[in-house]
Amino acid sequence: MEAEIQDSLDRVRGWLAGARHACALTGAGISAESGIPTFRGAGGLWRQFRAEELATPQAFARDPRLVWEWYDWRRGIVAGARANPGHHALAALESRLPRFTLITQNVDGLHRRAGSRNPIELHGSIWKLRCTRCSREHGDDRVPLPHLPPHCDCGGLLRPGVVWFGEGLEPEVWHNAHEAVRSADLLLVIGTSAVVYPAASLAPLARASGARVVEINAGETPLTAAVDCTLRGLAGEILPRLAQ
Ligand code: NAD
Repeated sequence: MEAEIQDSLDRVRGWLAGARHACALTGAGISAESGIPTFRGAGGLWRQFRAEELATPQAFARDPRLVWEWYDWRRGIVAGARANPGHHALAALESRLPRFTLITQNVDGLHRRAGSRNPIELHGSIWKLRCTRCSREHGDDRVPLPHLPPHCDCGGLLRPGVVWFGEGLEPEVWHNAHEAVRSADLLLVIGTSAVVYPAASLAPLARASGARVVEINAGETPLTAAVDCTLRGLAGEILPRLAQ
């Protein structure tokens, strides 16, 4: 088994070394080893709710305080967490390779904390708050927030600066991710169940544009059958070996 992984690691290292433009797409799995629950794994429930019941505009319209309590709890977990060797390895690759674009579905900000300079945050950030009335967005890293639900200076209700299930991505953010993947010759897909769209369409796009696709995941996903190489295991163990 170890020999097999070593073989695959050597192969992917070779691809990285020869890549003109490498991209990485990360999901909740890369932050799991920092102690941040994924949505679909163990610990994905808060009180009795599934994430899909809370991370929606409908849930927020129905009960903004409840949704904010969940975000306040998640912000608390992330505030007490540290970036792990997987995040650090991606920051190291970025500083070493001629061109490297990091695209993340995560909203926790841990890639930036690890030193990644300009991650494309497809789903926004839990450290941003946006006004539902005047649309202004600002950063706020207080944990816990003093009042739930928080309000803007204009009196409007503030919401988390994230993209919820059923909402569209920020067009410019999606454009940047799409263009990066289209021009990449290698895409690493790390710790994502590859079921949340449109992010999940980036791997097929990379393949259609002629790039090699490598999956790094603790388990199997709908993408596994369609990649050039699978590195099965924990992102925090595999990525540092890849970046060596
Ligand atoms: P997901 O919860 O659907 O899937 C997580 C994936 O990571 C699974 O395929 C699992 O096998 C894999 N995994 C778990 N631990 C791993 C590890 N240590 N190393 C490698 N792989 C591991 O997550 P998703 O696909 O990202 O989709 C859920 C949506 O919710 C996304 O938008 C996601 O970013 C968001 N979310 C974000 C956070 C965060 O910001 N940290 C946490 C939960 C959910």
